[in-house]
Amino acid sequence: MAVAPILLRMVASSVSLAASAGQHIRRIMKTGHLEVIDKGINDPQTEADRVAQQHIIGSLIRQYPKATIIGEEDLDPNDISPELFSSDSSEDVLKLKCHEKIHSIKEEDVVVWVDPLDGTREFAQGFTDHVTVLIGFAFEGKPIAGIIHQPYYKNSESRLGRTLYGIVGIGTYGFTYTTPPNDRCIVISTKSRISQVITDSINAMKPDKVLHVGGAGYKTVLLLEGAADVYLYASKGTKKWDTCACEALVETIGGKLTDVFGNHMQYHKTVEHINEFGVLATMQNHDRYVSRIPISVRNTFSKI
Ligand code: AMP
Ligand code: MG
Ligand code: MG
Repeated sequence: MAVAPILLRMVASSVSLAASAGQHIRRIMKTGHLEVIDKGINDPQTEADRVAQQHIIGSLIRQYPKATIIGEEDLDPNDISPELFSSDSSEDVLKLKCHEKIHSIKEEDVVVWVDPLDGTREFAQGFTDHVTVLIGFAFEGKPIAGIIHQPYYKNSESRLGRTLYGIVGIGTYGFTYTTPPNDRCIVISTKSRISQVITDSINAMKPDKVLHVGGAGYKTVLLLEGAADVYLYASKGTKKWDTCACEALVETIGGKLTDVFGNHMQYHKTVEHINEFGVLATMQNHDRYVSRIPISVRNTFSKI
């Protein structure tokens, strides 16, 4: 049998690693010893963030040494203890049929953005539903594939954990997207970083309802499942590892994830990690929502 393209092999490894990172996250939560370190204001790191990142990046770097792999946590991936290494890989991903562009991508052209635990603040407060593991793949500065794993998602058989993933131009897997009604506007935004500007921008969307949940990944899941119409965060603060996987999934099914000005983020390996101009994601009517961002909110960004 022909060997699968390198991008597909990297995604297959990462789908498997995201789920096993989820097992580590649940295991560490159960110990009750999160060993929280403050990286900055409102920016904690727990033992689960550290172990999940070492597991994912330590395993990927050994198998794909030519790719660029960037993780949220400042850790040396060569330092991983041997029991955290895994070369497991999802058979379902390896079976996917790829188009020519995917075949042409070389290992050294791939940039992987890893958020080993998105929603750490909420995780530490016990809101485990808000936690996700995010692995995004970029090629030529654009998201090409994305994985969102929810360690605490309750499956019908009372098993925990599910993985949503997508490859641009191929498809999305692990969930079903249904187009939400056109005449409603449910906005989803931050739970722990609310400010006047955030509130003003949400109100400008003319929402019927506002949901406040933690994490870029969880907000994106609710958008992907039609539970919300607009994911809006009109502030600097999210990073490329928060948005790369999310954008890949949203764009694969025809939605858009941009900054609040409607411009796409870039995901080259040399890019600034921070998303300076906020996040706005929708599955439909994107331009309409961009145009509703008030001048007063636009002016809070240094661009203007
Ligand atoms: P939130 O919407 O507040 O749950 O944030 C989504 C993601 O972006 C989380 O991973 C946060 O860690 C990150 N984030 C957003 N704003 C900030 C900020 N001001 N400082 C640090 N991290 C942030
Ligand atoms: Mg995050
Ligand atoms: Mg994180």
